[in-house]
Amino acid sequence: MSVRHLTILGATGTIGVNTLDVVARHPDRFNVVALSGNHQLDKLAEQCRVHSPRYAVVLDAASAARLREILKAMGSATEVLWGIAALEQIAALPEVDMVMAAIVGAAGLRPALAAAKAGKRILLANKETLVMAGSLFMQAVAAGGAELIPIDSEHNAIFQSLPRHFCGDLAACGVRRILLTASGGPFRTTPLNELAHVTPAQACAHPNWVMGKKISVDSATMMNKGLEVIEAHWLFNATPSQIQVVIHPQSVIHSMVDYLDGSVIAQLGNPDMRTPIAYALGFPERIDAGVSALDLFGRGLTFEPPDYARFPCLKLAFDALASGGMLPAVLNAANESAVAAFLAGHASYLTIPAAIEYALSRAPGGEPGSMDDLVQADLQARADADSFLETQRARA
Ligand code: NAD
Ligand code: MG
Repeated sequence: MSVRHLTILGATGTIGVNTLDVVARHPDRFNVVALSGNHQLDKLAEQCRVHSPRYAVVLDAASAARLREILKAMGSATEVLWGIAALEQIAALPEVDMVMAAIVGAAGLRPALAAAKAGKRILLANKETLVMAGSLFMQAVAAGGAELIPIDSEHNAIFQSLPRHFCGDLAACGVRRILLTASGGPFRTTPLNELAHVTPAQACAHPNWVMGKKISVDSATMMNKGLEVIEAHWLFNATPSQIQVVIHPQSVIHSMVDYLDGSVIAQLGNPDMRTPIAYALGFPERIDAGVSALDLFGRGLTFEPPDYARFPCLKLAFDALASGGMLPAVLNAANESAVAAFLAGHASYLTIPAAIEYALSRAPGGEPGSMDDLVQADLQARADADSFLETQRARA
């Protein structure tokens, strides 16, 4: 067994920490070459102390200076770099085999692209990369000879439930549709007239998963599932009509593949991200993830169709995918702005879909020809969502 060399982008986040937890269980298999983090410098320094990477990357010069001081006091030999170019650099190092792409939001796109162009195995947690720039990213993966393994639990489940050598054509592989499961989040049964007053703390209290704040709010609105529909489209070459969202509140089945012969293959497990992470790290072997065995007794598994009146963000995402062009990037950017405003206490829960709808109504037409087109559309969508929310605040 040869040692695999790893870069973890977003090491200090929920996915990053879970990745390091799995890696630490297999010191004979994995070597950490580089880690990145944003603000949590003490946490990043502690990770450097434990895993001794060659490089640690932060966002700006001031954070780099501070991290260097902390590491020096620890006697760590890790070299500190900063900025987007450094993130791209650690994603493409010749000595690196695998890159965990676990930065949150649009900021994860450029380093993920660098890993694709450099032909790495990409463990893709950053779904925003596919939502924003699915076409360009998939082209880069193919051109660079990269290998893409989804970390998002649903897509990892689908990956596990498809034929091992999936040909890229669902119908040709005998697949009728993908059944993408969703927990329904914390507001699945909240009376609709109470949704106007829900708080960020309530939205972040996910019933089954512990996650970063942004994705927790996305789970409450089901925009997370909407982004995942778009993600599934790019990963598995699935049309919107080949993707059925299924609410499954227990989060035991992580998604399913429905075959033409009537077979439905599902992947089950405890809701713990270390399972998909370990699958992707070890693929095609199975390795210990530190996750306890699933106890099937004493629990029922239930399923419901999604209700668009409760979850308008899911409908907006399906519509954006069907329209294509810049709309998925606009949807993603406007959502990031609206969720940030909601988390900061500057916008109410129900203004999130309203702001996205406004930005979508002003989206540019046509296909994105380049990354610059997408960045432009992204910035415009954020500005549109912000100005919509500003107007709403002035009215309130
Ligand atoms: P998180 O907020 O816990 O962590 C985000 C990481 O990104 C941190 O290391 C942070 O330092 C870094 N970061 C933030 N902004 C940055 C910027 N501008 N530039 C560089 N680095 C930056 O998020 P998370 O829950 O770990 O999610 C990470 C990604 O994985 C997201 O795209 C999310 O959608 C996806 N994902 C997460 C889960 C989950 O269970 N947490 C499940 C599926 C997919
Ligand atoms: Mg998911």
